[in-house]
Amino acid sequence: MKIKSAIFFSLLISPFFLYARPADQKSLSERITGYGMDVKLDTEEKTVSGTMEAFWVNNTSDTVPDIRMHLYMNAFRSNRTTFNKESGGSPGSRDKDPGWIEIKSFLMKNGTDLLPLMEFISPDDGNREDKTVCRVMLPKPALPGDTVAVVIDFETKLPSNIRRTGFTGDFYFVAQWFPKFGVYEPVRKGETGRGAWNCHQFHAHSEFYSNHSVYDVKITLPADHVTGSCGKLVSEKADGELKTQVFRAEDIVDFAWTAWPGYTVHTDKWNHVDITLLLPESRLEQVDRHFMAVKNALDYLTNNVGPYPWNYMTIVDPPLMGSGASGMEYTTLFTSQSSDVMPEFINLPEMVTIHEFGHAYFMGILASNEFEEPWLDEGVNTYWEARILDHFYGPNSGMIDHRFLKVSDKSVLRLSYVLSPVRQIATSREYSWNFPRGSYSMLSYQKAATVLHTLTGIVGEETMNNVFREYYRKWAFRHPSGKDFINVVSEVVRKEHGDKFGPDLNWFFDQTLYGTGICDYRVSQIENRKYRKPEGRIDYTGETEDEDTVTDSLYTAVAMVDRVGEVMLPVEVLIHFTNGDEVLEVWDGRERYRHFTYTGHRQIKWVKIDPGYKIAMDVNLKNNSLSESPSHTPLRRMANKLLAFVQFYFSLMLL
Ligand SMILES: [Zn+2]
Repeated sequence: MKIKSAIFFSLLISPFFLYARPADQKSLSERITGYGMDVKLDTEEKTVSGTMEAFWVNNTSDTVPDIRMHLYMNAFRSNRTTFNKESGGSPGSRDKDPGWIEIKSFLMKNGTDLLPLMEFISPDDGNREDKTVCRVMLPKPALPGDTVAVVIDFETKLPSNIRRTGFTGDFYFVAQWFPKFGVYEPVRKGETGRGAWNCHQFHAHSEFYSNHSVYDVKITLPADHVTGSCGKLVSEKADGELKTQVFRAEDIVDFAWTAWPGYTVHTDKWNHVDITLLLPESRLEQVDRHFMAVKNALDYLTNNVGPYPWNYMTIVDPPLMGSGASGMEYTTLFTSQSSDVMPEFINLPEMVTIHEFGHAYFMGILASNEFEEPWLDEGVNTYWEARILDHFYGPNSGMIDHRFLKVSDKSVLRLSYVLSPVRQIATSREYSWNFPRGSYSMLSYQKAATVLHTLTGIVGEETMNNVFREYYRKWAFRHPSGKDFINVVSEVVRKEHGDKFGPDLNWFFDQTLYGTGICDYRVSQIENRKYRKPEGRIDYTGETEDEDTVTDSLYTAVAMVDRVGEVMLPVEVLIHFTNGDEVLEVWDGRERYRHFTYTGHRQIKWVKIDPGYKIAMDVNLKNNSLSESPSHTPLRRMANKLLAFVQFYFSLMLL
């Protein structure tokens, strides 16, 4: 049987391609794209091959001449791909197999052959050896409202050097594995011109961007391989040494799956959500930790952002040999990370599970463009990761909870930003692969999260919750941009605080997210000057000071604070007097310095800027307080060094 006739035969007889129905009222998303696949895992050749039927709906008012698709697996084709050039990786090194995807047949559903019209393009860097994006000029342009339905026969060779996707031995993590539509973006409101395909190449650092889709995926593989996928298992049929499983997923942005004979399967339930956990037998001790963590995250994000709309999820804790697949998100399936021996006081499995699950919200539901604005996914998600960890595992011990060392997740993030020599904007307003070398993670994750923690300190946690509730309400199952998020922040803050923070919050984001400046406040001096009675020629004849109260015990006490950095944020200053009195001043931080002066019988004992640690972006906390008596700092210095080590350790592990 020839390939083309095989495809048509399968289409004719298969009741399996169920997806091609329009979005209905119950659909969570518009379902602009949809995919139906019938594939087989070949464990000898390490390939996944078969047929895919997919559609894209032109829901814009443009006439669109072409379609564009990602062929991500070609990133592992050679050491000349953009992915490998950027990462310094090479598929041929250390006996590693390359990965690739071949399109064997590309047809319109009506039978028109599109393969001769397909070409590889490199819209980001012009690299001719990069074949991670293809364009097909359509025989007839897609008119507004048209559906372009295609049938593709493909073979995907999995790479052995797992970088999110690939195989080791009999462990498979199959991601970024099928031809996938880019996102055709209509022209934005208020702008003129026409829309365009947003379909970037596969880069070393940036992640992905897709429309919400329905997936019907039929996988044939060895019967002894335990699987997990983004879909719900619809049916399973055994056939000798093989089995065929059918999965369905609705309104998700990607479809990944894993297979390994060594997985043990565990289940749990949270309200409407069936939770499945796959992990090696040697890690049974981590089962409860993963479940507890994900249930905490479900509670917290449901309460403070919005509902988790699917009724299932799968957590995968890959074995050591598959650790290259760890710490990655595919909405209804994500990979966590732990190890056989995991000390109770290090909340690593918790952190990774909470983080990767969080992406169900800030990528899965709010599907922003991770190529261009990674902070909107990673930064926002990391912000919530810290809030959840510190909420459930202790405000000062969300990350490490040991008798001798307690570390909050928020402080780990903060230190990663503070200790980095890179002072760049957290989002390039261009593309994430152009970040200064080695700074993608710090800028997209830790700096952006620290910016959001700082905003929380300024406007309050409940206002931030309302910001995210509104962001979810307005933008769920769409593609919000950074500007859309900031508009929601401005709207909600204004609604709750009136003019207190100005007509919008652009002043905040321009300085912190889109700015290169640092925030640093300092107590420069404390002065307690003896008050002197009027002496010399006093010409003022009006009301004079009460001579009886003017004694030698009167002081003019001055607290002097400086703004050392460029970033101007409102900050509180706590002034503590010798008699125990305390005054909390608020400084808008706009001037370079400010003097707080008090006349009375009390002297200033110490001054502390930002006593509530609200301005997480302040890069130097040591100069935030000054006391009349010297304080002991060596211990603190040692703690800082330990924290720096801890944050470095964790930054290596989290994608
Ligand atoms: Zn992430």
